[in-house]
Amino acid sequence: MDEPEYVRLVKDTEICKKCKNIVVGRGNLNAGIMFIGEAPGKNEDEQGLPFVGAAGKNLDKLLEKVGLTINDVYIANILKCRPPENRNPTNDEIKAHTPWLIEQIKEIKPKVICSLGNYATKFFFADGKVDEMPGITQVHGRRKLMEFHGLKIKLIPLFHPAAIIYNRKLIDSWEKDMEIVKSEILQKRLF
Ligand code: URA
Repeated sequence: MDEPEYVRLVKDTEICKKCKNIVVGRGNLNAGIMFIGEAPGKNEDEQGLPFVGAAGKNLDKLLEKVGLTINDVYIANILKCRPPENRNPTNDEIKAHTPWLIEQIKEIKPKVICSLGNYATKFFFADGKVDEMPGITQVHGRRKLMEFHGLKIKLIPLFHPAAIIYNRKLIDSWEKDMEIVKSEILQKRLF
């Protein structure tokens, strides 16, 4: 069977030729809420699953605080392959890898999307034009209702779980932001 175009686009990128595994996603395919990160790191590349390293452990802990587990959500990334040395994604990589993410979102049809960190947030806000909007520090915790490829979604930007590991102030912000996420999922009866 021919590969879908969105898979071919990813496989054509240099980072895909160098990575060990393509990291697609994990969690509940029927989830009403998705968390979108940036790109796989070393552990994710080795295991072929997103958020299984230090940032993932932190994310699990933070989800637990509001009564959620990985089985309640679906987690994916902007990039499907690890950039060498965990460098930032390039605009060309974002362009080539996000059609796959868009397919995932169209399949899962979440009501709420939590974008983790700058790259994921900028992807949704500026439709990929990452240089054209304020960073996560300005927009975290602010809900935005938007139309995304024919779906009505509520976007809630959050700090990236890797960024907050050693930063008490950011952990406090995350916890406050997660209360907003929680009220949204209760209101929409996502569970
Ligand atoms: N950071 C991310 O953004 N994604 C992962 O999968 C792991 C760490």
